[in-house]
Amino acid sequence: MENEIVDVLIIGAGPSGAVAAGYLQQHGVNIKVVEKQKFPRVVVGESLIPRVMDHFEEAGLLEALNSYGFEKKPGARFIRGEEHCVFDFSDKFGEGWDWTWQIPRADFDKAMTDELQRKGVDIAFETEVLDVSFDGTDSLTTVRDKAGKLSTISAKFVIDCSGYGRVLPRLLKLEMPSKLDYHSAIFTHIDDVRRPDGVEGTQISFDIIETEVWLWVIPFSNGKTSVGIVAPTEYINKLSASMDNHEAIQEAIKLSDYYVARFSGLPYEFDPIRLTNYSVAVSQFHGAGYALTGNSTEFLDPVFSSGVCFATESGILAAKLAKRQLEGEVIDWDQEYSAYMKFGIDVFTTYVKEWYTGNLQELFYHRPENPDVKQKICAVLAGYVWNKENPFVAKHRNIVKNMAYLIKQ
Ligand SMILES: Cc1cc2nc3c(=O)[nH]c(=O)nc-3n(C[C@H](O)[C@H](O)[C@H](O)COP(=O)(O)OP(=O)(O)OC[C@H]3O[C@@H](n4cnc5c(N)ncnc54)[C@H](O)[C@@H]3O)c2cc1C
Repeated sequence: MENEIVDVLIIGAGPSGAVAAGYLQQHGVNIKVVEKQKFPRVVVGESLIPRVMDHFEEAGLLEALNSYGFEKKPGARFIRGEEHCVFDFSDKFGEGWDWTWQIPRADFDKAMTDELQRKGVDIAFETEVLDVSFDGTDSLTTVRDKAGKLSTISAKFVIDCSGYGRVLPRLLKLEMPSKLDYHSAIFTHIDDVRRPDGVEGTQISFDIIETEVWLWVIPFSNGKTSVGIVAPTEYINKLSASMDNHEAIQEAIKLSDYYVARFSGLPYEFDPIRLTNYSVAVSQFHGAGYALTGNSTEFLDPVFSSGVCFATESGILAAKLAKRQLEGEVIDWDQEYSAYMKFGIDVFTTYVKEWYTGNLQELFYHRPENPDVKQKICAVLAGYVWNKENPFVAKHRNIVKNMAYLIKQ
């Protein structure tokens, strides 16, 4: 069997794999990316948050991505009946990007891999990782290409960016149940022919149907809009009992007083996709010779669009640490990688949980608005969840709960 030798093998070419590859390529590390699918491929995760821009910039991808005219996302709106709460990323606590994009991921991920290939990154598409074995930190990975041919890759370090493929968690038995309740989603892209002009037409919105049930509306610059419903799995099962996913989306749209007239009855770009019990976790984020990133580690919930941000934050950090390790430095992966990532994940977990308890919604819709509180929550929603100067980061465990309690009093 043929064997290829590289320094770092990256499994998966989604956002975490792309930024890891971009960073390592720029720093002259000998890498290879292996991707199971052919791009473009449909994948969920279309509303970004500003922190990702830091990662695209560091990975050398920002300029290329900027040239595609993806829809700019300056903030987000949360609708609850007649009440609207709009976050503007330019009005947030602390430093950081004021905008990001809302994107059809098929095109966006293809744009990233095209740019990587243009820069000379070796990406083997339609090639699946079947097995990885470790001897200390050295690894031997078995892959199968689209013709069915098996080969191996020897690498000094493996970055697992395989998303829900969860290659190393499965092979090394690291999978754990999520601490979050079971939620599911159904989504598609709709031909948005009744899109209003101006901000309303491009405004990314989350329409709260019930405390735990919401509809996402993510307009793209290509005239399509992603519409999806998120709810406890039981709710989704009931909503869609005795109907297919096509009808289920129509039922979901009917639940939204705000959007029913805009989206009812319009054609879909592809058969709606159902994602069931999507929250996942792992027992460890790294081991000798490997690091897990993105959805290969934990995925929380789509409500604050944190998924891609965690994917790129972990992808680029794993790449930086792997590079330093290859240069002979001893890396404290527990502290520099796992503890760091877990801190950010913990902050977002609190916000997700407090969203579904209703406490955070209490803060969003309390009037008059408190601009100081809003700016600090806005910084969290923008992905700046490592800035401990923000009390809504540093004291995340209690601050939302306590403020909601005071408001209710
Ligand atoms: C309902 C729902 C809505 C969401 N909405 C948002 C949102 O609005 N915003 C947001 O930021 N996030 C959102 N997310 C999360 C987002 O989808 C993920 O967090 C993000 O795509 C993770 O990126 P990744 O690079 O880790 O994995 P992926 O983007 O999934 O990429 C992994 C790649 O690895 C490849 N792969 C898998 N197995 C193998 C293998 N054996 N060999 C080789 N390659 C392999 C796959 O083909 C894939 O291309 C949502 C998630 C869900 C479930």
